[in-house]
Amino acid sequence: MTHDGTSGEPFSFAPERQIPGKLGRTGRITTPHGEIKTPAFIPVGTKATVKGVLPGAIKDLGGQAVLANAYHLYLQPGPDIVDEAGGLAAFMNWQGPTFTDSGGFQVLSLGVGFKKVIAMDTETFRSDEVIAENKERLAHVDDDGVTFKSHLDGSMHRFTPEVSMQVQHQLGADIIFAFDECTTLHNTRGYQERSLERTRLWAKRCLVEHGQLTRQRIHRPYQALFGVLQGAQYEDLRRKAARDLAGLDEQGVTFDGFGLGGALDKEKLGTIVEWMCEELPQDKPRHLLGIGEPDDLFIGVENGADTFDCVAPSRQARTSAVFTVDGRVNLSNSKYQRQFAPIDQSCDCYTCSNYTAAYLAHLFRAKEMVASTLATIHNERFIVRLVDQMRAAIENGDFFDFKRDFLGRFYSNQPNRQAT
Ligand SMILES: [Zn+2]
Repeated sequence: MTHDGTSGEPFSFAPERQIPGKLGRTGRITTPHGEIKTPAFIPVGTKATVKGVLPGAIKDLGGQAVLANAYHLYLQPGPDIVDEAGGLAAFMNWQGPTFTDSGGFQVLSLGVGFKKVIAMDTETFRSDEVIAENKERLAHVDDDGVTFKSHLDGSMHRFTPEVSMQVQHQLGADIIFAFDECTTLHNTRGYQERSLERTRLWAKRCLVEHGQLTRQRIHRPYQALFGVLQGAQYEDLRRKAARDLAGLDEQGVTFDGFGLGGALDKEKLGTIVEWMCEELPQDKPRHLLGIGEPDDLFIGVENGADTFDCVAPSRQARTSAVFTVDGRVNLSNSKYQRQFAPIDQSCDCYTCSNYTAAYLAHLFRAKEMVASTLATIHNERFIVRLVDQMRAAIENGDFFDFKRDFLGRFYSNQPNRQAT
């Protein structure tokens, strides 16, 4: 260990076991702050905290890393403060690897209300004007960057690829993401093409700036930069994005891994992830941004994604929606007032080991803060463990048996969901 609590290890990725006939694999990411066994679900701590849960509890529930958001931390408390604190992990007292996402998605989605994964009828809207008409739009994109209005105080700010790199270097996460334009499924084909070229040019600028900052900040642990792939639902654009970003080399600076991003139609998620992963180098890790539903995680792992993040497990927990092996349930339902058994009998989390569903149902009705804490610990454990179980199943050679058994039971009460 070095004086700043890091191992001094550089960044690396070692793929291990492959799912026969598929691109999914197990592997190991090494960062200066520790190792991540993949596939892995990464809990989200947007503002340098997983809402309602202490870092030690995230560690105890098996969280291997935490992902925070550059946009939120840039506005508050400011990246200079996180830098002075010794970086994100030291600031939040997290003993392990950290990620920050670039802020591109947040600044571009301000006021637009689109999600990263849009399970919608993509035929309904096919024009860029749908977004342009939005009266609440708080961001404007041009070829150099994005100008946006703070959601906190209305002040104006500007992110460019260089600013995003500077902010993320100050935040100091082990894995950072290139600044990209996140489009929606509403955008036209023509817009997607122009946007993809803009994202490619921004990726080059990110590599140049990242290289300079890495050389300037030799007193800090090495930060790995992931390029973010866009291209919406178009096969040629997705494959081109993967080839373009994998091939970029700015005076020896290349991407250490890749973020699979943008609008992903839920029905085509597996196909789109497969297109990208077929083009990407096998020896670099791939992070599927913003995915956390059980069926989507199986699809992502199967088709080659190594890590995942999503706010859903904690956000849903705060609304008393919790996972069980028989599907998602809501503790506000009166039947839980007298369930003197854990939320899920098969769960090994702190909450299920110590408390009944009846107690949690009471805490939610009484609006006690610890209700969110206990429910979040359970949901995060459920999803972290699910992906850990996928890793074990790949190692044991029975991934598809595990997938069939888990999804068949989890979605058995939802006839509209395909457990394939
Ligand atoms: Zn539990």
